[in-house]
Amino acid sequence: MERDLFTAEHDEFREVVRDFLAKEVEPHLLDWEEAGMVPKSLYRQFGDLGVNGICIPEEYGGAGVESFLYNVVVGEEMASLPVHLGGLSLHLDVVLPYFLELANEEQRARWFPALASGDSISCIGMTEPGTGSDLAAIRTTATRDGDHYIVNGSKTFITGGINADLAVVVVRTGTDRRGGLSLLVVEDGMPGYDHSRKLDKLGMWATDTAELFFDSVRVPVANLLGEEGRGFEYLTRNLPQERLSIGVGAVAACESALARTLAYVGERSAFGSPIASFQNTKFELADVATDIEAGRAMVDRGIVELERGRLTAADAAKIKLFATDLQGEVMDRCLQLFGGYGYMREYPIAKMYADARVSRIYGGTNEIMKVIVAQSLGL
Ligand SMILES: Cc1cc2nc3c(=O)[nH]c(=O)nc-3n(C[C@H](O)[C@H](O)[C@H](O)COP(=O)(O)OP(=O)(O)OC[C@H]3O[C@@H](n4cnc5c(N)ncnc54)[C@H](O)[C@@H]3O)c2cc1C
Repeated sequence: MERDLFTAEHDEFREVVRDFLAKEVEPHLLDWEEAGMVPKSLYRQFGDLGVNGICIPEEYGGAGVESFLYNVVVGEEMASLPVHLGGLSLHLDVVLPYFLELANEEQRARWFPALASGDSISCIGMTEPGTGSDLAAIRTTATRDGDHYIVNGSKTFITGGINADLAVVVVRTGTDRRGGLSLLVVEDGMPGYDHSRKLDKLGMWATDTAELFFDSVRVPVANLLGEEGRGFEYLTRNLPQERLSIGVGAVAACESALARTLAYVGERSAFGSPIASFQNTKFELADVATDIEAGRAMVDRGIVELERGRLTAADAAKIKLFATDLQGEVMDRCLQLFGGYGYMREYPIAKMYADARVSRIYGGTNEIMKVIVAQSLGL
């Protein structure tokens, strides 16, 4: 079914992004998988393309667009690649909104120009070795010392954490479980801050997923985002967009997997006939195409709700739950039609299968999504 979300300008922008990915990203994916991360220069290239600055106000070098639709275009095109590159989408869809919403004038002048140009990239550190789903149990502390905070603790599984120049870190500034949390921006190079440990993952091989260590890091109070003690509230406000963005990527990845599978079953033969000619193949792909249409309708509806400023936590949770469960199922069914080749990493479907697994885990696990939906039902 045709989508009616986008204007001709979005379509043109999509062509530019698609062309860039084909020329400047796809040819390097194998090297970056080997390196376990993309080079920082890639972010500058995205900056030159105007991607990083889409939502950043014009006075700081951005385009000042107040709409999520351009992010959707970038997210969908990135998710259609055979290798999921997590750092950029996370920077654009998840971390930048905190800066845009909470940075004061001095912080805007200090950080926005480099964020717009791609010279600076960000990550977000919520999860700790001891807690993930239960955000309010965070133990990394930021203790006030004059005009600085002294930060101690660690974060784990942080997407883009090695490349990031700015880390928005959820820290404990008080004892109240929720009211004691704040957002502090820790910068690359601050003494005692180590973000060099790269974690070895099942999938997403070209994305740097890092551990962050804070050993008495002195962070200026001027790096506090928003007000002290309101961190949990800010996180709750921004998580719906993060979850919608995961849903957007999940459905786009499904569409890409279906297209790749259709091409393969047309080429491969067994028992003297193309795989595509077997009834099982037709039924499997008819099911997959139908399910993707349902996922697409739900995600597109969520985008409209977000644009209207009324996407609720429960809506976003339903979308993330449905779209990422769908992604797991679609990758599995598509991979099966590739036979043994589907299990080989030289075939994109194998990577897409492995990369898909995490979408049911990060951004809040799908069990936590069910908890949120159940709460909205009064349970
Ligand atoms: C590749 C990758 C990238 C990530 N990127 C980031 C990032 O950039 N920034 C960041 O802060 N974090 C990131 N994460 C962390 C991610 O958000 C957490 O892993 C996730 O929230 C789950 O937390 P946990 O791993 O501590 O699991 P746990 O919270 O220990 O959960 C373990 C299991 O228990 C279940 N469970 C927990 N509580 C409940 C409950 N109340 N009811 C039912 N079941 C429950 C969970 O669903 C899960 O199945 C990333 C993780 C991965 C793997």
